[in-house]
Amino acid sequence: MKQLTLALVAHDAKKNDMAEFVAMFENDIRPCTLFATGTTGGRIMERCPALSVTRLKSGPLGGDQQIGAMIAEGKIDALFFFVDPLSPHPHDVDVKALMRLSLVYNIPMALNRATAERLIKTFRD
Ligand code: PGA
Repeated sequence: MKQLTLALVAHDAKKNDMAEFVAMFENDIRPCTLFATGTTGGRIMERCPALSVTRLKSGPLGGDQQIGAMIAEGKIDALFFFVDPLSPHPHDVDVKALMRLSLVYNIPMALNRATAERLIKTFRD
């Protein structure tokens, strides 16, 4: 696995999925530098205590925007953003902005677990 910098974000209804995804691919992910929004990062570290995750602010408090800024600065190689399409989110504009910057800077972006599981395998050496 290449030593990439990954951003991990999951809406509340998708946090279990994210924790399970990271656990399933922990060996692949271990060499990577990890950034996550606050609560998502906490859940990942609970599930995978051996991993080191830099936790940014919680999404609704600016964490999505922090990751967006890192993408704009060229600091993120891929975004794993497990979106809950069935709930309203107070920070919907931030969610859209994060997706938009991933498109603008053309970084790989997995919006659900099925895509994430396929994407992570493409990073294997
Ligand atoms: P959280 O933020 O990981 O702090 O819950 C994710 C989000 O809802 O954008």
